Amino acid sequence: MRRLHGQCHCGAVRVEIEGVEAAELPLRACQCGFCRRHGALSTSHPDATITFAGSQLIHYRFGQRRSDYLICAACGCYVGAETEIDGARYAILNVRGVDLPGFDGREPQPMDYEDETPEVRAQRRKARWSPADITELQPSA
Ligand SMILES: [Zn+2]
Repeated sequence: MRRLHGQCHCGAVRVEIEGVEAAELPLRACQCGFCRRHGALSTSHPDATITFAGSQLIHYRFGQRRSDYLICAACGCYVGAETEIDGARYAILNVRGVDLPGFDGREPQPMDYEDETPEVRAQRRKARWSPADITELQPSA
């Protein structure tokens, strides 16, 4: 299956990752304080496009302020993160936050990015994150 769908708990934010088989998508456990608090497991692939669509997206920034963590304002789910590098948008999905299928029984790879410089971080994200499309929908009345 080359296209996976997920959504936040309340359904206000819908996501999609398309382009590679689910088995080829990595499963990473970022060890930063934010991701550990959420029990987040993330995925992305440079050959798979990630789409977010929602009327309730909150952009939360911390640390080096190079990326936005996307949170549903209605239900509080952390759904993914996005960043802009050289004019292009890249993203990851929080597999748990959007209940993405295809990862059952997979062992996540622990990741620690603490010692990265901003330049190394940008290069890593360009190489591993997915091209992203984020659609902020108007709330329905
Ligand atoms: Zn929600």
